[in-house]
Amino acid sequence: MEDDSKQALELALQNNGHVKLEASKIWTYGFSPAEQIRLDYALMLMPQKIRRWISDIIKRESTHFEKSHAAHFDPHWQRICFNKIHPIYLSTIWHEAAHAYHSVIETKMDEAWRKLTDPHNVIYGNWAANREDGGCLWIGTDDDGPDNNCLTPYASLNIREDVAVTVEGAYSVLYGEQSLAAINLLKIPQDENSIFWQKLKQLHLNKFLKDKQYKRLLKILRARYKS
Ligand SMILES: [Zn+2]
Repeated sequence: MEDDSKQALELALQNNGHVKLEASKIWTYGFSPAEQIRLDYALMLMPQKIRRWISDIIKRESTHFEKSHAAHFDPHWQRICFNKIHPIYLSTIWHEAAHAYHSVIETKMDEAWRKLTDPHNVIYGNWAANREDGGCLWIGTDDDGPDNNCLTPYASLNIREDVAVTVEGAYSVLYGEQSLAAINLLKIPQDENSIFWQKLKQLHLNKFLKDKQYKRLLKILRARYKS
């Protein structure tokens, strides 16, 4: 276990199931003690710069959500809502926290990100198809691997989802969480000049990842090709 994840887990356990995160003043409602420990643990791995933009986290009935999504972020209240009928995955917490922070820096960061991913306005919103089980595939295929400069078909829906899925992938790879974004991040091309690598660099530049995390992520991605 890496030092930072050990420390985050210790702090989360000390909080004893009552999400404190007092430095960030995040209020939570409706979670079990075990779920609160997960929230604490996941959020404490992220920079304070990200956490401070979340005001509260609430568990709600599934009727509150469009298409029974697992969670969403409401920028009006800076609030993350989790759907009662879904488990609370670490990857979902990272994804929604990314939306929260991105919502305040998007005017500053989106131009460079769009230039990388979709300079001709042909990708976002054009290539993802919903599956009946709620998943998402590339149109006309049964494939959901990294493509069209995006880690997953869902990420290609729009720039906000793209940023959130990329952050989710980065944290999931760093801390060993299974998610499609993580599996696909481990499949990106070896060429470090490729768009996927440049997008990770953008995440670091925009402080979604601490220096240490970014360095470790690059190390993990490079190690894939060493036998
Ligand atoms: Zn999202």
